[in-house]
Amino acid sequence: MSHVFHRQPATAYPVAVAGDGPYLIDAAGRRYLDACGGAAVSCLGHSDTAVRDAIKGQVDSLAYAHSAFFTTQAAEDLADVLIARAAETMPNNRLDKVYFVSGGSEAAEAALKLARQYFLEICQPGRHRIIARRQSYHGNTLGALAVGGNQWRRQPFEPMLMPATHIAPCYAYRDRREDESEAAYGQRVADELEAAILDLGPETVAAFIAEPVVGATAGALPPVPGYFRRIREICDRYGVLLILDEVMCGMGRTGHLYACAEDGIAPDILMTAKGLGAGYQPIGAMLCSAAIYDAIVTGSGFFQHGHTYIGHVTACAASLAVQRRLHEGGLLENVRVQGAALRQALDAAFGQHPHVGEIRGRGLMLGLELVADRASKAPFDPALKLNARIKREAMARGLMCYPMGGTIDGRHGDHVMLAPPFIIGPEHVSEIVDRLGQALGAALDSLP
Ligand code: PLP
Repeated sequence: MSHVFHRQPATAYPVAVAGDGPYLIDAAGRRYLDACGGAAVSCLGHSDTAVRDAIKGQVDSLAYAHSAFFTTQAAEDLADVLIARAAETMPNNRLDKVYFVSGGSEAAEAALKLARQYFLEICQPGRHRIIARRQSYHGNTLGALAVGGNQWRRQPFEPMLMPATHIAPCYAYRDRREDESEAAYGQRVADELEAAILDLGPETVAAFIAEPVVGATAGALPPVPGYFRRIREICDRYGVLLILDEVMCGMGRTGHLYACAEDGIAPDILMTAKGLGAGYQPIGAMLCSAAIYDAIVTGSGFFQHGHTYIGHVTACAASLAVQRRLHEGGLLENVRVQGAALRQALDAAFGQHPHVGEIRGRGLMLGLELVADRASKAPFDPALKLNARIKREAMARGLMCYPMGGTIDGRHGDHVMLAPPFIIGPEHVSEIVDRLGQALGAALDSLP
């Protein structure tokens, strides 16, 4: 009997023992093609020698030094690389400083507290409210959960969550009117932000937080072109900070190191994690503008936040090796090429499928929204747990994919997300689509 507190105690988990490129291998010797990078984490696959060697090399000389006493070369070098890339790739980049944490939720907590402290430093103490979007996930700690909009995740903890205001996501498949252009739709939903700021009073609003490509809660949902430009304008007009959560969609997953570069904007604060350490070490980061950092330097002189493992040297060394791999091996180009190939193969296999409503995403972050009926876009009954059936059937066929429920409103709708490692080739694309087709078919056949 296991003493591990498994999140789904009724599930018999295979024991993972080894990794081989994009495959994970269990104790029985079964191989699983990792078509979701766990949860969009393992962007270099599971046996990257350069990252493993960097970790070993770092631990051999220094495994840990508390950030209250020391900085480290690995943290300094990694911050330099992340900021240099932001300056190179983001139009009108504002990001200048990097605060290292251990994961995405910690990055969210740091971002929210930094936004609040910034306004205290610049003598605007009334600004404390956060605006977010309904279909969003920013982490499972209480602050991150409070700004996230997914009803299912929030519901048990609702009485414990700080207030936040939620506006519509940019979800053209379901919300764009038939007579509306994509541009007009994007403007209409972005303008909900302005309405919310005016309603709350601009002098009370600290920040707006959003995922450039929505991940876990909506299945690789990208915005329509122009949406984020409008959002950026509105934030600037009212002095509201823009926090972009690139925990899932960042670090090359969309074919760009920073997903927001494709939208032509830069945030005031950016959160990243997952692909930052590629799963080899737990690491996340919050990047912020010089203006925010300087407000602290010239104000209180102290960011009133922290954790034991911020700037963990081994995690930073691993992440630095990940950055080198991303930029030296043409891997982002491979994300774009294999992403287009996977998209094409999915379109060919499922484009006319009676239960696939939309295939969407960017780069190697792709999703299929499942529907009971294509014409009406009606979702499956959540009680059928279609997403759980797909996961089971996929695992039985040696495929890891990321099916989730609650796609439409946190309660209804199912999707499957794919986020394979950046190292995949055409043979893996075919294997993913074949096995997914079999798993989807078996899951649908199993419905009562
Ligand atoms: N933000 C986004 C967009 C995420 O997808 C996630 C995790 O899935 C998080 C934040 C939370 O990250 P973590 O699970 O590392 O705390």
